[in-house]
Amino acid sequence: MKRKKISGLLSTSQRDIDINVYGWVRTRRDSKGGFSFIEIYDGSCFKGIQIIADSSLPNYEQDIQKLSAGCAVFVQGMLVESLGSGQSVEVQAKKIDVLGFADPEKYPLQKKRHSFEFLRQIAHLRPRTNTFGAVSRVRSALSYAIHSFFQENNFHYIHTPIITGSDCEGAGEMFRVTTLNLEQPPKKNGQVDYSHDFFAKASYLTVSGQLEAEIYALALGNVYTFGPTFRAENSNTSRHLAEFWMVEPEMAFCDLKEDAETAENFLKYIIKHVLINRKDDMEFFNKFIDKSIIEKLENIISSEFIVLSYTEAVKILKSSKFNFSYPVQWGHNLQAEHERYLAQTYCRAPVVLIDFPKEIKPFYMRCNDDNKTVAAMDILFPAIGEIIGGSQREERYDILKNNMIEKKLNLDEYWWYLELREYGTVPHAGFGLGFDRLIQFVTGMGNIRDVIAFARTPKNADF
Ligand code: ATP
Ligand code: MN
Repeated sequence: MKRKKISGLLSTSQRDIDINVYGWVRTRRDSKGGFSFIEIYDGSCFKGIQIIADSSLPNYEQDIQKLSAGCAVFVQGMLVESLGSGQSVEVQAKKIDVLGFADPEKYPLQKKRHSFEFLRQIAHLRPRTNTFGAVSRVRSALSYAIHSFFQENNFHYIHTPIITGSDCEGAGEMFRVTTLNLEQPPKKNGQVDYSHDFFAKASYLTVSGQLEAEIYALALGNVYTFGPTFRAENSNTSRHLAEFWMVEPEMAFCDLKEDAETAENFLKYIIKHVLINRKDDMEFFNKFIDKSIIEKLENIISSEFIVLSYTEAVKILKSSKFNFSYPVQWGHNLQAEHERYLAQTYCRAPVVLIDFPKEIKPFYMRCNDDNKTVAAMDILFPAIGEIIGGSQREERYDILKNNMIEKKLNLDEYWWYLELREYGTVPHAGFGLGFDRLIQFVTGMGNIRDVIAFARTPKNADF
């Protein structure tokens, strides 16, 4: 007989059927009546299932009464209507085999609640806890929703490279990839000679797949990438990882307005998906992590995103009576406190900030007619701040080339990017979503290290 998953057993309407179920013990309780209640979970859903083990089972004393949290078992039995409260069905065991004990004297995950800091040190065991099981399932469901949104809307999934020869946003923040002997690197004129390196030039881990996605958008229309990106910034915050995942759609024949509309539809779609399909896990977050998380997410789905220009936002912030730690000045980046004020206090809804000063934005963003601002957008969520950054890309060859010269880019490195504007250039736009930040928002988890399976942060790549 095949293995049944607990998610299926809890949702079936069938009763009094023989089943096989496998899982790990959460709790065991012995009743005076000569039987034990064992709750097991198998990861298929948040809830576990209750097993009733009668003392007449041949290994009752030898094995079953020794079961403790973390032990792995195989159960053969009958799925029956539960008489107790708290569950709809339970399993009357006919046979219980212990596949693996977990010594309760030593097993680190006992019933008490552990701090997330402690659990980070046991990243090999933390997925077994309620919280990390729920985070992992929500992460998986959101990944699925991202692919379905784009696939349903006829975007093609492009695998952009992880190793890159172009240092897109400044070498200071990139991890170097090399096979050179770091003890004795080859040198020329006192400098490391990368012509002897694996790729015969300096190379790095990518910080974004955008530029390569543009190449494919200009051939396939609508494309997206969804993959790991790397930043060697020494940001020891609860919102930064050295290795994180990014979703980056890129659309040909598209302007900023349509870009922002796509982003809004996309966010609503994936949030709706997770509320419907991971109800069990979301109820857990709502109860134990953030008591208003479901309400916050429902608000996102039901609100119209409010479009504000950077210039309007600066006016609003300047006339606010709020005491900001950082002053607001046109031409400077907004701080997190300003973003939060706009979305949470002023608009009480997600905000799409557009048209930023060109000095504070990268070379590839399209210059507006005022010659002072670019067609950029940041989407700000209440409580969390920026969740998406995007722009319409500069498609005009001469203007792009001038931007690159002004921003001191090495034109020889980007000859292909310029060539895209030489042959069949079209208006195009896209955006980037930090996937791990999204999971933080959706689950209410405070630290980004706790929404990814194995967090890579400064001084930590252990496991
Ligand atoms: P921040 O100001 O928070 O450092 P950024 O301006 O450097 O962000 P972008 O370069 O615009 O971010 O990257 C696009 C998205 O990737 C951001 O909106 C954010 O969601 C996410 N992101 C950026 N850096 C990190 C990081 N170190 N860890 C996790 N997510 C990140
Ligand atoms: Mn950053």
